[in-house]
This record gives sequence, C-alpha cells and structure tokens, in this order.
Amino acid sequence: MSSALGASVDSRPTVLVSRRLLAAGMVRLAGSCEVVEGGLDATPERLCELAPGADAIVADPTVAVDERLLDAAGPQLRIVANFAVGHDNVDVEACTQRGVLVTNTPDVLTNATAELALALTFAAARRMSEAEADLREGRWTGWDPQAYLGLELSGASFGVVGMGRIGQRYAELVAGFAGEIVYASRTPKPEVERELGALRLGLEELLGRADVVSLHVPATDETAGLIGRDEIARMKPRAILVNTARGPLVDAAALAEALGEGAIGAAGLDVYEHEPQVPAGLLEAPRCVLLPHIGSATTRSREAMARLVADNVLAALGGSEPPNRVS
Ligand code: NAP
Repeated sequence: MSSALGASVDSRPTVLVSRRLLAAGMVRLAGSCEVVEGGLDATPERLCELAPGADAIVADPTVAVDERLLDAAGPQLRIVANFAVGHDNVDVEACTQRGVLVTNTPDVLTNATAELALALTFAAARRMSEAEADLREGRWTGWDPQAYLGLELSGASFGVVGMGRIGQRYAELVAGFAGEIVYASRTPKPEVERELGALRLGLEELLGRADVVSLHVPATDETAGLIGRDEIARMKPRAILVNTARGPLVDAAALAEALGEGAIGAAGLDVYEHEPQVPAGLLEAPRCVLLPHIGSATTRSREAMARLVADNVLAALGGSEPPNRVS
C-alpha cells in the first residue's frame, strides 16, 4: 500500500478506501491495486486531499460522496463502492453524470440487520435498557410485581414498513410469535402474503393497528419524515417503534416528546439523522433503547460486505459488470 494515491509507482489502479475496510476486502484489493486508507477520522477535506487520481472510492454511510469529492478524484474515477446496502450518502446522480458506477452490498447484511431489529423489538418491549441501567446504577431495590411491565410479543400485531429484503426477513423472524403481520410497501408482495399470511395496508391503517412498527425503507426524499408527529399520534399508546433503517425517516423530537408523555409505548433505534450525534431528547427519553448503528455488525456480515465491496471494485476496474450495481 502506498501512503497517497499520487505516490503509486506502478500502473496498478488506485483505490481510495475512505475510512477503513476489513481485511477480507483489503486482501482482495491489495492483490491488484494500490490502496490508500483514509482512516476512521478522515474528514471530508482529508478525503479530498487523498482522492486525486483514484480509480475507485470505497465509501460507507458516514462518507458523503458529493460533487466535491468526485471532482477532487478526477475524470479517471470509475466506481464508488459503498460498504452498505443503503446509499443515501452517495450523490448517485452526480456519479452517473460523470460516468461513475455506484455499487452497494445487499443480501449479505439482511439477516444481521433483521436480527438486530428483532433484538431492538425485544429490548424495547421488555424495557431492557432502563431495567439494566437501574440494576447497574444501584436503583434496583428488589423484585417488584409492578416494575418494568412491558409488551408481550406473542400474539402481537407486527407492522413492517418497507417489505424489501430486510423487512421480509424481519417478518419471517416475527412470524414465530403467532400474531399477525401487516405491512406497508410501494408494491404488493404476494409471496410474503402467501407464506406468512401478511396483510398489506396503507401506512395510516398499519400505524393504528400494529403493536410493533418496524421501519425498513431506504432514506430518500420521499421517505424523509415518514414517521412524524401525526404518524406517531396514530400509533397505539403502548406500541413500539423500531428503526434500523435510517435516521431521517423519523422525527426524533416528536418521538422523544411522545415517549416523555407516555403517548407511545417504547422505541428501539439504531440510526440517527446526524450520526454520530444523537438528539438530546432521545437520550433523555424514557423507554427508549439506543444503539450506535450496528445493524450489520456481525463478523459474518461485515466480512461478506468487505468481500463484496472488493468484488465490485475489481469488476469495475477490470471492465466487467459489477455484481451489485445501483446505477
Ligand atoms: P430493499 O430490499 O431495497 O427494501 C426496501 C423496501 O422499501 C422495498 O420493499 C421498497 O419497496 C420499500 N420502499 C422504498 N421506498 C418506499 C416508500 N417510499 N414507501 C414504502 N416503501 C418503500 O432494501 P433492504 O436491503 O431491505 O434495506 C433497507 C434499508 O435498511 C436500507 O436502505 C438501509 O437504509 C437500511 N439498513 C440499515 C442497516 C443498519 O446498519 N442499521 C443495515 C442495512 C440496511 P418496493 O419493494 O416496492 O421497491
């Protein structure tokens, strides 16, 4: 590996790994490319310094791939390979205008993310964060028949918003609770309806019916603020909101307020609009489980994502169709 792209001494293509990539991907890239890593603390300015001459950029959800970075890289740039399935951090249109391919890492993180949504469902339903915090901080004074009463998931109504890969896997996992599965999606999913007995509803109806609402749509202009004050008000007073998709889908201030007023049962969140900042209202809100964007964070998933990123880069640089082209 060279220390800067411009320092490459051979004719191998150069890859800028914006922040960090697991060894499973680095090994594949380093076999035939010059690779530069920005490091976990790489600022947008630092990335613009490193980008000139890059043939490929590996990005992740924290890296804004915008016109500035694309221009800094230069006209030889062939691919932006995102280490994520969501690609709201990438200006896809600007890439397309410059003839730059964009790829993502679907499928290999579906199980991990759906499992985390289920974990958040459990944790929020049974108030695990506050119960554990009380225990650790010395506030547990003994068994209390009325303490930490939560929602029993068996027989509950599960509302899946966005019945794509992760939404479907989540639906499969919660099907074991023998309740009902309702879903809101742009297009009907007859297979899921057939296999899981899921019922497609409009979002408003789903919100009024589900005990658990789990979000699985991408962050787009259309889905920004999907769950705002009005939508939260439509939810049952004991319902749980789970968000492992993207922060901008939910009005965090409205959610914090609803939790504070007891207008909603609980929330389990993995993602926030301006990560790594977490709105103070959510940090202070009761019955709110907060995780630091770890949806795909299993060894199996992250290693597979790293391999996929490398495969996409190597395909594009080799002149063939990358396996996970977004545009
Ligand atoms: P996917 O297979 O593309 O599924 C997305 C689903 O959302 C599709 O079913 C799509 O409907 C639906 N959808 C899109 N726009 C919609 C709208 N405006 N209204 C209603 N439904 C809409 O994607 P995925 O692999 O399941 O991933 C989903 C999202 O999860 C990603 O975009 C990412 O943001 C997030 N994610 C987070 C983590 C994490 O670490 N927390 C990890 C992985 C993924 P159609 O089927 O009709 O197109």
